[in-house]
Amino acid sequence: MIVVLKPNLSRKDETAVLKEIRKLGYKPHVMRGVERTVVGAIGDERTHQTLETLTSWPQVESVMPVQKKYKLVSREAHKATSTVNVRGHWIGGKKFQVMAGPCSVESEKQLLSTAVAVRKAGATILRGGAFKPRTSPYEFQGLGEKGLKLLAKARRETGLAIITELLSEAHAEMVAEYADILQIGARNAQNFQLLIAAARTGKPVLLKRGLSMKIEEWLLAGEYVLSNNNPNLMFCERGIRTFETYTRNTLDLSTIPIIKKESHCPIVIDPSQGAGRADLVIAMCKGAIAMGADALLIEVHPNPAEAWSDGAQQVSLEGFERLMAEIQPFIAAAGRE
Ligand code: PEP
Ligand code: MN
Repeated sequence: MIVVLKPNLSRKDETAVLKEIRKLGYKPHVMRGVERTVVGAIGDERTHQTLETLTSWPQVESVMPVQKKYKLVSREAHKATSTVNVRGHWIGGKKFQVMAGPCSVESEKQLLSTAVAVRKAGATILRGGAFKPRTSPYEFQGLGEKGLKLLAKARRETGLAIITELLSEAHAEMVAEYADILQIGARNAQNFQLLIAAARTGKPVLLKRGLSMKIEEWLLAGEYVLSNNNPNLMFCERGIRTFETYTRNTLDLSTIPIIKKESHCPIVIDPSQGAGRADLVIAMCKGAIAMGADALLIEVHPNPAEAWSDGAQQVSLEGFERLMAEIQPFIAAAGRE
């Protein structure tokens, strides 16, 4: 930590600060300038009391961390880009991956017909919520384990890998039994106990960005997965809440180069929750690919008008086929396959 002292302090006041820094378990290195003194305090904040308490001292102007708070997710910790293996499909590598399927698993017919269509169009991973985080308790909450069983059936019949949301710590083992990737939803992005439980299943984890989460907070939430011995983490931008009303959320594509720069973990874009409008999904996908995203997570429904959740943003089976054709030149231009 760097502790900046107020200008023109007496030696006595300075000594008191240095004494406190030592008392808290840090080694102070004093740097005297013309007007003011800066102290570099060497020590590990995880094993010592934080130095931030010094901000309330009248002698201290500010206390700043030297290092970033996140470690394991950072590019500094791991120079090469990490890849996540999902049943032989690598996310974060040369091959661009598409995860697609309905917002919610509704029925065998709905899921299977979607699975067959998205596979035919080139998706490798099937999405579908069995446990749904709904704003109102009176809305469809998902089929639960029955939905997980249908996802497993769709995997058996199509060979697609499965991504589904883990909503509660209590379901961690059950959901991990069926899923190939555990999705942590936007509403749970800072549910740290859930992140730990997800990490401990050993399954790859896709961490959505919270509705009003800063990128640093998102990276720190990801740190919970890596620090619980699970290296298979993917970040997923799905739009943040802003003042805009033309879209459901504001899809923040600037997170793609930022996550790439700050972290070695893959970045996935969800244009469906991001825009909340099916008519915008193709354009968002093209932009995301051009900016270096590693994968897309897209909502697809055989009959969006009758979907039990998120009907306005789901693309039809034909719409998805067209989308997959239209994004090909962007995938090639981005140097992906
Ligand atoms: C979803 O993917 O259907 C979903 C609920 O996502 P989010 O957590 O991003 O809202
Ligand atoms: Mn949805």
